[in-house]
Amino acid sequence: MAARIPMKTPLVEIDGDEMTRVLWALVKEKLIEPFVELKTEYYDLGLMHRDETDDAVTAESAKAILRLGVGVKCATITSNAARKTEYGLKALHPSPNATIRAILDGTVFRKPIILSNVKATVSTWKKPITIGRHAYGDVYKNAELAIPGAGKVELVYTAPDGSEKRILVADMPGAGVVQGVHNLDSSIESFARACFIYAIEEKIDIWFSTKDTISKTYDGRFKEIFNRVYETEYKDACAKAGITYFYTLIDDAVARVVKSDGGFLWACKNYDGDVMSDMVASASGSLAMMTSVLVSPSGAFEYEAAHGTVQQHYYKWKKGEKTSTNPVALIFAWTGALSKRAEMDGTPALAEFAAKLEKATLDAIEAGDMTGDLARIAEPAPKKSLDSWEFIDAIAKRL
Ligand code: NAP
Ligand code: MG
Repeated sequence: MAARIPMKTPLVEIDGDEMTRVLWALVKEKLIEPFVELKTEYYDLGLMHRDETDDAVTAESAKAILRLGVGVKCATITSNAARKTEYGLKALHPSPNATIRAILDGTVFRKPIILSNVKATVSTWKKPITIGRHAYGDVYKNAELAIPGAGKVELVYTAPDGSEKRILVADMPGAGVVQGVHNLDSSIESFARACFIYAIEEKIDIWFSTKDTISKTYDGRFKEIFNRVYETEYKDACAKAGITYFYTLIDDAVARVVKSDGGFLWACKNYDGDVMSDMVASASGSLAMMTSVLVSPSGAFEYEAAHGTVQQHYYKWKKGEKTSTNPVALIFAWTGALSKRAEMDGTPALAEFAAKLEKATLDAIEAGDMTGDLARIAEPAPKKSLDSWEFIDAIAKRL
């Protein structure tokens, strides 16, 4: 066997839970360690270890990503009452992804992995559409009120000096509902920067859409900040990368997206990104074929799979069953992290390996070796679907 490829700087490796934890170890053992002298700084975010450390390990892992620049994360359980009982936890902790996102101040980019034998529902799509979703504020941090009957509804802003600004929302003739939402200039700026950094990295055009014709102040602010960040910080870099920034109304964007051939970043406000990322994922194939990267405006990157811990498969595996869980998004989390590490360290052999592993994975599927989720939608359908172990062996053989 050829010598293993050395690494300069370690990756921040963040382990997780359930079926994805099982596959994580398998992917490393069969697909990475035989080829790479893997260097990682390891953080165990398995639920029990998060609980033992009173969740301190989560923040430590995020700070390590800021320090080293690149992390790769397994899916993790977000604890709730049922998990507290199941694992005998001391306490409930916030979602690890939310904690990490807050520390990295990041934006999440999700992109489907395209296969020749799994057709997108939208026939014009030839290249993946990446969604960049702003993950702060709007309807997700709203205040809502049910109004029992006629009366005046106002918005009031009180400055620290006690002075006020107020505006009439509605003179309600009868019962109804009201809602207040907000966003922050600083958060919109971070979002815009992360989107430009991502699009320049990937050399893809960037579309941004809001409803600023109707929401002239609120959505208008998003448009204004995006344009300012582009003009003052990224215009030259975009030109150098050969990509364009394009602003349009959200309804126009939707109409254009389903007629496009793909291959661009669609930057979306929080709600639009929530809805449109599910649309793009589902129209492109399978949740297990969706990659996800968190980009911090400081230039740090965290790669993960877009799906969860695949809980039900884990319970079957614990009973001794070999499940047909798709490891592709986990494999691509590793290849994304390794090739970003290679780019930062100037180690092209490592980047070449990551590209080979991606190719071996896609070649295996396109040759008919695949897990059950894809076997159900592939054309032609394979004779049989593989379990995760057989599938990973099929990739290893090609490597
Ligand atoms: P999930 O793990 O994404 O799984 C939902 C269903 O999607 C599975 O039951 C399976 O369908 C299918 N699926 C997802 N990934 C698959 C894969 N790789 N291969 C084959 N099928 C796959 O979501 P969940 O069951 O709702 O959540 C489980 C746990 O994950 C929760 O504790 C949640 O907190 C956590 N979670 C973590 C993250 C993260 O860390 N990024 C994200 C989401 C959820 P079938 O059963 O039909 O086969
Ligand atoms: Mg959603």
